[in-house]
Amino acid sequence: MKYIGAHVSASGGVENAVLRAVEIGANAFALFTKNQRQWQAPALKSDNIEKFKRFCQVHHFSLDYILPHDSYLINLGSPDAENLKKSRSAFIDEMVRCDQLGLKLLNFHPGSHLNKISESACLARIAESINLAIEAVPNVVAVIENTAGQGSNLGWRFEHLAEIIQQVENKQRVGVCLDTCHLFSAGYDISSFHQAEKVFAEFEQVVGFNFLRGMHLNGSKTPLASRVDRHHILQDGTIGTEVFQFIMNDPRFDDKPLILETIQPEIWQDEITFLRSLEQAR
Ligand SMILES: [Zn+2]
Ligand SMILES: [Zn+2]
Repeated sequence: MKYIGAHVSASGGVENAVLRAVEIGANAFALFTKNQRQWQAPALKSDNIEKFKRFCQVHHFSLDYILPHDSYLINLGSPDAENLKKSRSAFIDEMVRCDQLGLKLLNFHPGSHLNKISESACLARIAESINLAIEAVPNVVAVIENTAGQGSNLGWRFEHLAEIIQQVENKQRVGVCLDTCHLFSAGYDISSFHQAEKVFAEFEQVVGFNFLRGMHLNGSKTPLASRVDRHHILQDGTIGTEVFQFIMNDPRFDDKPLILETIQPEIWQDEITFLRSLEQAR
């Protein structure tokens, strides 16, 4: 079964994200559990936690198909000791919040070397950051997102993801989320059925589908290998829509959150309907 939703707003309280997901006809969703542009956030209140869990139950959202995203400020591979420390404690706080909400996954961008340390040193720091978080907080899986490779961001090659995973001690607690916009911007041509087949075969070989915990379904505004991260709506953009048909009909993408981060929330409902229309009866 395919679980499709969007990254909905949690403004006014995390429980509101559930209701916004209901409005667009989703059976999965993503959210920020705190303001993503701030380091510090007040702890989740028990009232909000209770409502979040109750709303999920009432509206039949399984906690397995909710994919929270961490703050953009966090750099788990930071070359700067002070910033690394701050990032690690903020990431642990994000993981605690997920666990409090009963969520099983935490999606994050791996990190940037800022041209101050080598790629492999940065990847090792990221892995160590994951190890520390896993040790500090139970249950939640650290879900590494592939990036567009903008600036000094790592995680745009499958080899980066594999190198991080290889250094994570508890493999049950680490996973990957693939973003279609980021794949294309990073140079993975998924613009046709045939190309998509090749890219996902490479993913299987380098990382492995057993680590795939979710997908971000986005169009892109930039050309292949631009290394620039600009999302677009699904049906208009440089990638085309064959890849979405591919994903909707491939059982390797079953039973995982498939999340829209497209740029027009007012058409999310239509985009979900569009994705459902691509699903052939099987
Ligand atoms: Zn994404
Ligand atoms: Zn992006």
